[in-house]
Amino acid sequence: DFVVQTKNVNKVYGKTVKTTALHDLSIGFEAGSFNAIIGESGSGKSTLLNIIGTLDRPTQGEVIINGVSTKNMTKGALGDLRNETLGFVFQFHYLLPEFTALENVLMPYRIAQGKADKKSIERAKEILDLVGLKKVENNLSVNMSGGQQQRTAIARALMNHPKIILADEPTGNLDSQTTDGVYQLFRKINEELGTTFIIITHDRRVAEKADRIVEITDGSVTLDVIK
Ligand code: ADP
Ligand code: ADP
Repeated sequence: DFVVQTKNVNKVYGKTVKTTALHDLSIGFEAGSFNAIIGESGSGKSTLLNIIGTLDRPTQGEVIINGVSTKNMTKGALGDLRNETLGFVFQFHYLLPEFTALENVLMPYRIAQGKADKKSIERAKEILDLVGLKKVENNLSVNMSGGQQQRTAIARALMNHPKIILADEPTGNLDSQTTDGVYQLFRKINEELGTTFIIITHDRRVAEKADRIVEITDGSVTLDVIK
């Protein structure tokens, strides 16, 4: 069963000067699968991920999440869908440096509800334990290593039990050892929680360890290898 599917997605940027970033792209991702998306800079990877994540709408075609088309959903409904189903991890983790790891993980809840309740604090602590940050959960993010900061961002993305994690160059500014740690953490989450991963990566070693490698060239899928 596909947890995410695009059907004939086209994306055209610009009104006078038009750039077609995606050409009639149809692809489905299986629930619980671990996928890498590769391709040259400017090939359309981020556009595809943003469209799958409903952060951006296709010019034509549709995105189906959990079997439901997002085509006619309102902004509010898309926001709810993202909150209930999706987790995002980016190259730049957008943590608040002068807050602790625990506070950063709870930030979306504080923004949504004004105050984090007991249950969400417990959940945050559990997840910080899962990502290996239990001992440093009260350290300020600014004082943490790049890998610890990225793990904090991953913990934050896991707070709402997402079915799908969408990651755009999550190891883009990490050294090779830290990259390996982030990959292993993703795998652990994938295996223990059954979370589907779709990861844009330039890192050959991350891509080679995925269950499926999809290459995008000029807005089309030019290679699709399932192991
Ligand atoms: P990748 O993630 O593979 O580097 P992108 O999806 O970022 O590729 O970009 C695909 C194409 O779309 C590129 O030609 C890029 O210049 C263009 N593009 C991306 N975002 C925009 C935008 N907001 N406005 C105009 N063109 C864009
Ligand atoms: P790229 O991979 O194209 O170099 P980035 O990794 O900086 O660009 O960001 C990828 C995309 O994710 C951008 O198009 C941006 O609009 C979106 N994005 C970045 N940060 C956030 C965020 N905190 N929440 C939602 N979308 C974001």
